[in-house]
Amino acid sequence: MKILVFAQIRDGKIEENTLGILNKVNEVFRDSEISVTLFGSNIKDEWIKQLGVHGAKKVHTIDAPELEYYLSRPNVKALSKVIDKIQPTIIIAAGTVYGEDLLPRVAIRRGVSCAQRITDIAKEGEEILFHTPVRDDQAMKVQKITGDIKFVTTRTGAFFVNENPTGGEPEVISVDITFEEKDLLVKHVEIKKAEVTVNLKDAKVIVAGGRGVGGKDQFTILKELASILGGQIGATRACTDMNWVEETYEIGQTGQSVSPDVYIAAGISGAPQHISGIKAKTLIAINTDESAAIFNYADYGIIGDLHSILPLIKQKISE
Ligand SMILES: Cc1cc2nc3c(=O)[nH]c(=O)nc-3n(C[C@H](O)[C@H](O)[C@H](O)COP(=O)(O)OP(=O)(O)OC[C@H]3O[C@@H](n4cnc5c(N)ncnc54)[C@H](O)[C@@H]3O)c2cc1C
Repeated sequence: MKILVFAQIRDGKIEENTLGILNKVNEVFRDSEISVTLFGSNIKDEWIKQLGVHGAKKVHTIDAPELEYYLSRPNVKALSKVIDKIQPTIIIAAGTVYGEDLLPRVAIRRGVSCAQRITDIAKEGEEILFHTPVRDDQAMKVQKITGDIKFVTTRTGAFFVNENPTGGEPEVISVDITFEEKDLLVKHVEIKKAEVTVNLKDAKVIVAGGRGVGGKDQFTILKELASILGGQIGATRACTDMNWVEETYEIGQTGQSVSPDVYIAAGISGAPQHISGIKAKTLIAINTDESAAIFNYADYGIIGDLHSILPLIKQKISE
């Protein structure tokens, strides 16, 4: 079996998700040929070396000025070319905006579907099963993809990077490509960095909200309390996924890691992926459900409605 990982570059480095995927596929598909495809302009040797160390046996590169920035059409053409050349069984990419744009486009051109945002891969005999959390992560969808070629994107942060990788020097295969006018109808203009960048790492107080907050507007009370306490707000992925707050406020496995003196967790259930990002001196949990896992980690627990309790705390502190 041949596995092809689509590598992504971010801020001049191989994106961590790519290394995490390499770790996972090496674990699940030990006896398979694991290769990576890397596109860009002026591809660096250090990237190729790093991919080898993290388990890529072969790296198929396409080095072209047209691939300096991600654009759909040139990338579709480049990936299609590599697929035609090596005929992989599985093509897998991190579900970043680029991965989620590219793989379904290439898949649909081949008349197959693409499993998206998976968080696990399992082999059961000859079957390959892809797991995707659904219904707000309360249930797991397990998919088999029929057909000779399987396109898959992963949820970002789903797989850990191997801290002690033991791979070696990969074989590098340079693939030639020529782009035509029709491949370049869309031009790259500029990249603007997001204006909201929050450093939660140094915050001494964090008032974090979860799904229990109930909506974007309801975050106001958390913002007010955080402001009075000289702190910041934080959020679970449930909230950032629903755009109640910007992604940059997410705390946990795929968000920021924080170590405040005080962490107020309001309407947060206490999922391991959230908890793994918190090292607080004092954790105060507010939840209506007395059996919520968050209480296992809390120094102080308040069973009740955050919409009544947070205004009370605000009032007491303001007195
Ligand atoms: C690979 C992967 C990576 C992930 N990475 C992250 C990550 O980095 N960060 C992250 O946060 N999540 C992450 N998740 C998601 C995580 O698994 C949980 O789904 C998520 O943390 C749940 O968010 P929540 O606690 O806000 O929502 P829920 O689990 O739905 O909990 C809501 C809680 O609010 C309580 N509640 C409801 N109403 C009220 C009220 N009025 N007052 C008080 N309490 C109330 C409920 O009792 C419940 O306990 C990841 C998941 C996966 C699979």
